[in-house]
Amino acid sequence: MSYHMRNNSINDPQDPLYRRVQFLRALLWVMFVSFLLLGCINQFLFAKPTLALYHFISSTLALAGTAWLRRRPSDTSVISLVVALATATLLVLYIVRSAGQGYALYWLSIYPPIVFFLLGRTWGYILSILVIGGCLTYVNQVAALWQPAPFTLRSLLNILTATAALIVILRHIEKTRAEAFHYLEKHNQKLEYIATTDPLTSLANRAKLDRALGNALRMRRQNDESFCLILGDIDHFKTINDVHGHPIGDVILIEMAQLLRNSVRNSDLIGRWGGEEFLLVLPNTDCDQAKMLAEKLRNTIAAFKFRNGIHITSSFGVACVRSDDDATSLMQRVDQALYAAKTSGRNRTVTDAELTEVELTTDQRATNMTP
Ligand code: GH3
Ligand code: MG
Ligand code: MG
Repeated sequence: MSYHMRNNSINDPQDPLYRRVQFLRALLWVMFVSFLLLGCINQFLFAKPTLALYHFISSTLALAGTAWLRRRPSDTSVISLVVALATATLLVLYIVRSAGQGYALYWLSIYPPIVFFLLGRTWGYILSILVIGGCLTYVNQVAALWQPAPFTLRSLLNILTATAALIVILRHIEKTRAEAFHYLEKHNQKLEYIATTDPLTSLANRAKLDRALGNALRMRRQNDESFCLILGDIDHFKTINDVHGHPIGDVILIEMAQLLRNSVRNSDLIGRWGGEEFLLVLPNTDCDQAKMLAEKLRNTIAAFKFRNGIHITSSFGVACVRSDDDATSLMQRVDQALYAAKTSGRNRTVTDAELTEVELTTDQRATNMTP
């Protein structure tokens, strides 16, 4: 069972081990096929049985590695180290064995991509420097003793095979990088959605509204673009919860969000500001247009039959940006406008331009009541 579970996680592309196991599999198969091919060529084409035997043994080792990986996919680190050391040994032996054949050094180029991918940067540097540095130092010491070798068909086949191996390795690394990038991108999109969305209504959350408000104020300063805010609040929502229960209250919030969403332009941002309060940021909108929209929303909500045939009303405050506004002053005005709509009877819209008037009325009422 544990084998089955491990095998499942190795087959999951999101598991970090998955890519290494895939790479090891591909690498071992390439080694198996390449050495088998080279062994056959040396045995049957060039009649070099010793060299062919060396290739057949390498091919068998690669096949054994594949079987090991299949049986114990969680041993990736050990198998990676063994493959990196085995590849180093094969390369060193090959270069020593091919005395005078300059093309043999070309095989060294496959080593850094393999070892960096399998063992990471630190071991990638260490083993690459050790193996390549060691081979080049050795060649430098003995090169004077070598007989110059002609460039033959075998040289050409070797270079072709090494190039094919290098391309397969680099292709796999690139595929891995692209997959990891794609996964990160999708993951980031998910995180961005969670960070900016209200989970109940799927509208923008407060963080996103704050950001949109900041952007709108910046656009206002840079391009003199006017914009308005509408703050809407369901009237007596607490009673709805008390009478029909909290779950029905939730459904009404969802239906309300859908109604609002259906009534605004694509360029408008609508979000949940708090419990049963919704904020709309309306770019390129003047105060009259904003008030008209608020009234349209108010009427739509009042006419709509919500879940269980419930009817609700809502109040709206409207504020339009002024030259000296910052986020705090603008939000304060829209909040005051909403408060004025509530205190003057609910199910109505009040704009910030009307605010002083309403306040005046309230003051007058207060003054009139004074004995
Ligand atoms: P007003 O007309 O003055 O706005 O009255 P109200 O009852 O709507 O306002 P109040 O602030 O007294 O109550 C708001 C209610 O909204 C209380 C709270 O339980 C409810 N509420 C806030 N968030 C949620 C939510 O996510 N789901 C549900 N079902 N109710 C919520
Ligand atoms: Mg309310
Ligand atoms: Mg409220």
